[in-house]
Amino acid sequence: KEKHPEKEEFIQAVEEFLPTLEPYLDEHTEVIEKNLLSLIVEPERLIQFRVPWQDDEGKWQVNRAYRVQYNSAIGPYKGGLRFHPTTNESIVRFLGFEQIFKNSLTGLPIGGGKGGSDFDPKGKSDAEVMRFCQSFMTEFQKHIGPDIDVPAGDIGVGGREIGFLFGQYKRLNGYAAGVLTGKPLNSWGSLARTEATGYGLVYFVQNALADRQDSLKDKKVVVSGSGNVSIYAIEKAQELGATVLTCSDSSGYIYDAEGIDLDLVKEIKEVHRGRIKDYLDTHTNATYVEGQPVWALKEPYDIALPCATQNEIDLELAHAIVNAGTKIVAEGANMPSSKEAIDCYNQHGLLYCPGKAANAGGVAVSALEMAQNSTRLPWTFEQVDSELKTIMKNIYTVCSETAAKYVEKDNLMVGANIAGFDRVIQAMLSQGLV
Ligand code: NDP
Repeated sequence: KEKHPEKEEFIQAVEEFLPTLEPYLDEHTEVIEKNLLSLIVEPERLIQFRVPWQDDEGKWQVNRAYRVQYNSAIGPYKGGLRFHPTTNESIVRFLGFEQIFKNSLTGLPIGGGKGGSDFDPKGKSDAEVMRFCQSFMTEFQKHIGPDIDVPAGDIGVGGREIGFLFGQYKRLNGYAAGVLTGKPLNSWGSLARTEATGYGLVYFVQNALADRQDSLKDKKVVVSGSGNVSIYAIEKAQELGATVLTCSDSSGYIYDAEGIDLDLVKEIKEVHRGRIKDYLDTHTNATYVEGQPVWALKEPYDIALPCATQNEIDLELAHAIVNAGTKIVAEGANMPSSKEAIDCYNQHGLLYCPGKAANAGGVAVSALEMAQNSTRLPWTFEQVDSELKTIMKNIYTVCSETAAKYVEKDNLMVGANIAGFDRVIQAMLSQGLV
């Protein structure tokens, strides 16, 4: 960490991951003997390129873009693209590293990758976003393909951006539907992909609760963010009988004791691309807290679903979560809890559901989109949703059983890390020269 301060998030992810493998490594001594841990932390390929584009005033702008093709032992590289001003090599590396094991947990044939750019789509016109995406893809298309690397969305990259990226790929290479996932439905996207990460997160929690003879009915839930993952986590939690009290963006959070009005949030975020404080224009009884994360909330609740971004919960906020009487923290975002926050949940007996397991529904449905694109046959919403439910149940079961085998059943973090790692490392070993 001292030697590479610029790789802070990446080192954090690796430092959180490796020690949890200890009980597995005691049994599988060949992993250390063959020095495979050194291989797993080193990306197979890391690409960086510049993206020049013209703004609406005709002025040239330039952004930096990255793709880490981390590990292809179990399939083509697969993982999202993030467009956010904070995107840098460290963030892309940490996301790519986590993605290897998340993809492995889905049980589907997808390797690990991740990418993005420090471009900020917020406040840009559709034409500017289109020109940026076209320039991005003009370079990026050299490195991807349906059997090589299949990117998808992440923060700042939704259907609009994927549509523009796909259009440019097609102009340069012809129609290859399986080269990107999260595509618009009119361009061979999959039904239920938009909903998949949020729904999958709630299915994971539903399984964890069912395993403890409990359910989401009448639970109070706190959600952070108001983007793709948050919106569909709120939708499914409400459908299963929970009351969702909050949502947020990077400017502040909304608390609505009567339960979040999701139709309104969708209109603000998906139609107008507005700010969450606009919620107050319709619901004058709700509260808006400027400049604070939802995790500072003092009201009691049962389940925390962090769905915004990495490191949104530090030790102090973790204590606030514990003090609110929370029993479960399930991560929709990638690495939203710092290491100290996770230790705090564990010390206080909360059930911690790590992102690489709990938010794997998105990439799982992306893999189902690839399957539909390969066979050129679209599936119904019900078909995809039913597969998603099965996959999330299997992920919960494998995490919980692996945890029970190596440590104790409730330690889903150790269960997820070992189960995800085992599949990748066994594939690397069986393929010989990795
Ligand atoms: P979106 O861009 O749709 O939404 C992100 C939300 O988080 C917005 O409300 C945004 O607010 C908020 N946010 C972003 N950065 C910050 C910040 N620094 N502080 C506070 N709030 C912030 O992204 P997604 O919903 O797609 O992704 C959210 C998380 O889920 C990410 O960690 C992503 O990696 C993870 N994830 C996403 C998957 C997917 O399928 N989309 C799959 C698996 C994981 P604002 O508008 O103000 O920036």
